[in-house]
Amino acid sequence: MRVVVASKNPDKIAEVEAVLGQLGFEFVRDLEWEDVEETGATLVENALIKAKAVVDATGMAAVADDTGLEVDHLNGAPGVTTARFAGPNATYAENVAKMLAEMRGVTQRNARFRTAVAFVTPDGWEMVAEGALEGAIATEPRGTGGFGYDPIFLDSKTGRTLAEMDDVEKNEMSHRARALRALVDLLEG
Ligand code: IMP
Repeated sequence: MRVVVASKNPDKIAEVEAVLGQLGFEFVRDLEWEDVEETGATLVENALIKAKAVVDATGMAAVADDTGLEVDHLNGAPGVTTARFAGPNATYAENVAKMLAEMRGVTQRNARFRTAVAFVTPDGWEMVAEGALEGAIATEPRGTGGFGYDPIFLDSKTGRTLAEMDDVEKNEMSHRARALRALVDLLEG
């Protein structure tokens, strides 16, 4: 089956292809599609919206993901609005600064990344899976790797931020990797 990864981020495409490659799909790259508005109320809805839009634009099966950061002190926010926490066109640095400001002086810092992945075929078959990574919001940024909130997301097992890990280590245990492996299990089943 020919499959498109519904992302324009080369690192994410490579990560998805590496995990789903074991299913024997043929991945097609360099296709064009219009950016899709993520209007869903949940990560699963947004992943399905993205996957379906790419199926419609390309005529091929597509896999899409949507990730949110849930902070207990913020009652699960920013969740589905993680990318625009500090405003509609917020940069990673602005989102990180806003999170540190919201969490200043807060002792309950538990948080998790959650990813939903959706796999949709041109004949309308859909499958979704989720993965999560538990951790905490650091009091200051640490590390230079990764992207987004990685410098302030402390992995609860190692006590290091995701930005202090190299890509191989992060991609082994990340929320996205867990969601993708859950999808592989479902598709194999
Ligand atoms: P998306 O669903 O992958 O577009 O992710 C939404 C937002 O979550 C991004 O803009 C990033 O700020 C953040 N994000 C997603 N994945 C990660 C990650 O692995 N580390 C840190 N931040 C992430």
